[in-house]
Amino acid sequence: MALTLDQLNAAAPDEALRLLDGLYEHSPWVVQRALAQRPFATLAALQWALVQSLAAATRDEQLGLIRAHPELAGKAMVANTLTAESTGEQSRAGLTHCTPDEFAQLQRLNADYNARFGFPFILAVRGPRGSGLTRQQIIAAFERRLGNPVDFEREEALRNIHRIAEIRLGDKFGVEPELGHRVWDWHEALAQHSDPGFKEQGQLTVTYLTDAHQACQRELMARMRESGFDEVGIDAVGNVVGVYHGQSPDAKRLLTGSHFDTVRNGGKYDGRLGIFVPIACVERLHRAGRRLPFGIEVVGFAEEEGQRYKATFLGSGALTGHFNPAWLDQTDADGIRMQDAMRAAGLPGTLDAIAALRRDPARYLGFVEVHIEQGPVLNEMGLPLGVVTSINASVRHVGEVIGMASHAGTTPMDRRRDAACAVAELALYLEQRAAQDGDSVATMGLLQVPGGSINVVPGRCAFSLDLRAPTDAQRDALERDVLAQLSAICERRGLGHRLERTMIAAAAPSAPDWQARWERAVAALGLPVHRMPSGAGHDAMKLHEVMPQAMLFVRGENSGISHNPLESTTSHDIELCVLAFEHLLNGL
Ligand SMILES: [Zn+2]
Repeated sequence: MALTLDQLNAAAPDEALRLLDGLYEHSPWVVQRALAQRPFATLAALQWALVQSLAAATRDEQLGLIRAHPELAGKAMVANTLTAESTGEQSRAGLTHCTPDEFAQLQRLNADYNARFGFPFILAVRGPRGSGLTRQQIIAAFERRLGNPVDFEREEALRNIHRIAEIRLGDKFGVEPELGHRVWDWHEALAQHSDPGFKEQGQLTVTYLTDAHQACQRELMARMRESGFDEVGIDAVGNVVGVYHGQSPDAKRLLTGSHFDTVRNGGKYDGRLGIFVPIACVERLHRAGRRLPFGIEVVGFAEEEGQRYKATFLGSGALTGHFNPAWLDQTDADGIRMQDAMRAAGLPGTLDAIAALRRDPARYLGFVEVHIEQGPVLNEMGLPLGVVTSINASVRHVGEVIGMASHAGTTPMDRRRDAACAVAELALYLEQRAAQDGDSVATMGLLQVPGGSINVVPGRCAFSLDLRAPTDAQRDALERDVLAQLSAICERRGLGHRLERTMIAAAAPSAPDWQARWERAVAALGLPVHRMPSGAGHDAMKLHEVMPQAMLFVRGENSGISHNPLESTTSHDIELCVLAFEHLLNGL
């Protein structure tokens, strides 16, 4: 008989502890302390209590728990002394069927890992969907994590322990995140389409209007049709648009969605999660035969990342009337004009058709977007969902400092006009100045000595600036200080410089009533409400210009890494996101 929350909440303390036996390897204290927070309204609330219990434990207690775990495919497995839970998990991942080579490799990794960290390597081998990682994936994770700093890796071990407990908890309660699995699988299927040159290497790259991009459009349309959308189509810039009517077809609509293009060698969830989650909600409404008082319009934006053409936010910009006419004549790396790429993809490729995409805000309630966090915050906190307060304002520059190239051997230190040293000084200033704000970020992502040589004092140094802050005023102050510092450095060192501002975007604070809707949705799941700014730009930023918007973030695994094949999220977290979205819909 599967356990129920009512049973757990009503049980005497010893009995409750026994009911959750085996959740944390030989460490019942984690559960015991969490049980003090009973009653639990939801499993997610119980898990949050477990996260807090472990986070509040002493360093020695945490290490004790980590060390209570068996070595992966280690001696305990050979000696058959693993706990029942661990045996099941390791055999499900195929670790009981290693080839002799793989086994030897794992033994070596175990030894290296133990020598470096002083505790065994812990990985939730059932993976983000609970169905098991492959041996190759396990070995790759092992190798990757060997390079982590010690403190970080201890935290990563604890996160994996929570993930193992999450799956064990599901087994005890007899609940599987079926809905989350389903949506997780949709991401996997869509990720099969990738641009040539990347697909062969198993990498995901989908850029504007390529064959892979068009295959994604078709697959999204098919998914929408299957899910019961009333209208499904591709618009003049290649966005995939699905409408699920309200009780009356001309009722106002909630606009939602995100992008399906990717960066080169990107992740499977960036953007796509924000399309699939509302599709899953519509599917559930449709299956229940329900119509809401408003329509739901889900847009899979065709272009957000600006990879093939320099036309970032092209898809969402078309809906707000911000399509730049000059883009149509822009060429890609192969010299193909955007308008020709559009026509080849069966789109009209005319400004008139694109201008007609502009939405009348009066016909919409607002815009919401869910997105993978693309950062480490939720992962570190052990929280599945976060509510976005504002999308940060940003500004970018590319520039160059000009000094004088001279001989590295013959030019005395006090006669040099070294452009790279000046830029290095600016880079360090950026770091310190942004940190001073607490929530600003500043990055010099490009730093290059054009035509540099090992024995020449750098005469020129090219660099970039990416500055972001939660408000426009804070960003402007940051920019002012950085540019003043650049001038001061160059003046002091007798150097020239030039600078070009290539992008500026205003902050997009969430509409308070919409943000509050997300907050209620998160709270209804039994989770604490964590409010956070978005450091990355999103389609919601564009829609912000014409209607109220608010975003919900979903935790990413692997420290929230994004724009990378390691980008990952679990089917458990996806399911919570779908339920939060559903709660928002029901409350409107
Ligand atoms: Zn994105």
